Amino acid sequence: MKTPSLNIWVILLVIIGAVWAINIALTSPATPTADLKLSTFMNEVRSGKVRELVVEDNRVRGVLDDGSHFTTYLPAPPSASEVEDWIARGIEVRAQPPHAASPLSGFLLPAMVIGLILLAFWYFSRANRGGDGSGAFNFTKSRARVLAEAPKTTFKDVAGAEEAKEELEEIVEFLKSPERFHRMGARIPRGVLLVGPPGSGKTHIARAVAGEARVPFITASGSDFVEMFVGVGAARVRDLFETAKKNAPCIIFIDEIDAVGRKRGNGMGGGNDEREQTLNQLLVEMDGFDKETSVIVMAATNRPDVLDPALMRPGRFDRQVAIDAPDVRGREQILRIHASGKPLADDVDLGVVARRTPGFVGADLENLLNEAALLAARERRRKITMKDMEEAADRVMMGPAKKSMVLTEFDKRITAYHEGGHALAAHYLEHADGVHKITIMPRGRALGFMMPDREDVLHWTRKRLLDQIAVALAGRAAEELVFEDVTTGAENDFRQATELARRMITEWGMHPDFGQVAYQERQDTFLGGYEVRHYSEETARRIDEAVKDLIDAQYQRILQLLRDRRAELERVAAALLEVETLNAEQFLRVLAGEPLEETDAETRSGRDSETQVIPKARIRGEPGLGGV
Ligand code: ADP
Ligand code: MG
Ligand code: ZN
Repeated sequence: MKTPSLNIWVILLVIIGAVWAINIALTSPATPTADLKLSTFMNEVRSGKVRELVVEDNRVRGVLDDGSHFTTYLPAPPSASEVEDWIARGIEVRAQPPHAASPLSGFLLPAMVIGLILLAFWYFSRANRGGDGSGAFNFTKSRARVLAEAPKTTFKDVAGAEEAKEELEEIVEFLKSPERFHRMGARIPRGVLLVGPPGSGKTHIARAVAGEARVPFITASGSDFVEMFVGVGAARVRDLFETAKKNAPCIIFIDEIDAVGRKRGNGMGGGNDEREQTLNQLLVEMDGFDKETSVIVMAATNRPDVLDPALMRPGRFDRQVAIDAPDVRGREQILRIHASGKPLADDVDLGVVARRTPGFVGADLENLLNEAALLAARERRRKITMKDMEEAADRVMMGPAKKSMVLTEFDKRITAYHEGGHALAAHYLEHADGVHKITIMPRGRALGFMMPDREDVLHWTRKRLLDQIAVALAGRAAEELVFEDVTTGAENDFRQATELARRMITEWGMHPDFGQVAYQERQDTFLGGYEVRHYSEETARRIDEAVKDLIDAQYQRILQLLRDRRAELERVAAALLEVETLNAEQFLRVLAGEPLEETDAETRSGRDSETQVIPKARIRGEPGLGGV
């Protein structure tokens, strides 16, 4: 094994030394100067023999009457009065920034930078020659973590996601006995791309594949390859694949591959040579496996749309497995898995918890159970109750309740009517979801909250979307109806309503005047997303008007509904002001004009915040809506 690290230090020292010498030669003044003792200098000043002075910090250079140059050092930089004194004596005084000729900033620093750059180049070229990477700093080594043992996670630990497991079963079979497949001359999939929202269990399932097959699991994250120095990322990729070949059969898992795998050369933000080189190296490595190598490359992303299409060519990540947010059954199973080992009270119904958590992914559910356990532990209880689960779900969704936040009576009243309006809309509109819970307990950034009793739907119909818009607008409508004034509290409601209305027109072909045309699509770039519009200014104006008309119409519709049901609105608001939180059952009782039961502590301990008309995951994370 050669030890090149020593040589480079020698070279570096020589470079720095040489530059230093040049530096000293250059900074020495052209005119010869003599060092003057401080006392001599003072005497010369006093006797009026000094013609010029140049002050740099505490160094003073000067010219005497006889034309000779000198340098002297003061104990400290001269004070203003000292300088004034010199000027009064007819000396021409100049001041210079002290660093002007300082060898450190003037030459040494650039020299060191040059040295470092040379060092980087040297490493780079060595890496390209396929060096063994054992140097003083081997930062070209991949940061991959190798689990020599297969992970303990298996498919049993993965709930829901049945389709994904089925698709991955083949990979497991191959890794278990590669020879069987090689003998048949079958072309085995090389790369599998797991696609799904954050927390949906991509890493978890990849690990489970390795666990099922009992092979080593080598992980790296896309961001490990993103480095400042050109070539380092590529070298790390090479290293990662080397490691894998030594451990075959095994799985390489590249998490968040979008960090390296973004589309090349889209021009935005200037070319990124380093990233492109890294991506090219990844492609080269994937193409370079010979048939007999039993390494499967898995990768995960929540942004398949930004990936370079070259990654998806045959022989690379030609398999995509969607890991969606789980449906209600999946959620229940995930809860069940993570509840094992936690003492649940008899009243806990995981099915109910699953039903009230649409849009939650595996990570959220795991988090929910953990929060519930923490709540129970904090109150020194033996079991986790349903109340803990409810509180935990709210917490995961919007952060802890702000029980200590003091609201004025006025704020409370407005919030009660606002949320009451949302609730009546959700209850009475035919295609809206019912009401799961209403509260005026502040939580997160919101003062109140109406949680709909939503089922998972994959297809949003036009009627359902219109009702959703009306539900979103109902809070403001109630304010206007009751207070004949409006507040700022409906901002988020409007944003949701407007987004839905606009997308109905421009993306989902749901407006008669605009036909089934995709007017806009989302594009993502290195710098973030933006909307690409495929229409003229004229159409833009028509769309804006249509959005406004659509929202106006829904607003009038919901205003009318609330006007007709004013008595019920009053009852709901009054009940909210009294007990702060109403569950579904209590809400129905209030609507029917029946008295609430004894207001137990349970209802008072309310929670919650802003109206969630559509969970963001569903509407943004495209898989939910529309399908094709
Ligand atoms: P991702 O990689 O998609 O962001 P993770 O795999 O890191 O998500 O999931 C986070 C956690 O959520 C995991 O540690 C796991 O405990 C839990 N989890 C996610 N999906 C499931 C599932 N289908 N079954 C069981 N647990 C899950
Ligand atoms: Mg992950
Ligand atoms: Zn609202």
